[in-house]
Amino acid sequence: MCLVCERIEMIKKGVNPYFVKELETGYVVIGDNQHFYGYTLFLYKHHEEKAELFHLDLSERVKFLEEMTVVAEAVSRLLGLKR
Ligand SMILES: [Zn+2]
Repeated sequence: MCLVCERIEMIKKGVNPYFVKELETGYVVIGDNQHFYGYTLFLYKHHEEKAELFHLDLSERVKFLEEMTVVAEAVSRLLGLKR
């Protein structure tokens, strides 16, 4: 099991302290390491089956990237990033 899948399993068990929010296609988590302030990840829910963007069907890819964009905007607003 890869690191991403391990983290997803922790979310499902309710023991991932970095878990923020579940969306339709993925999970929002705060990065373990905050070397970059606000470092946040959006983990694809079915990483065990499809670990690369190009593995996703077009409609699923579009939905995942749309949700990723929403997460990025939310984090940017929360942190007041100007870039
Ligand atoms: Zn995985």
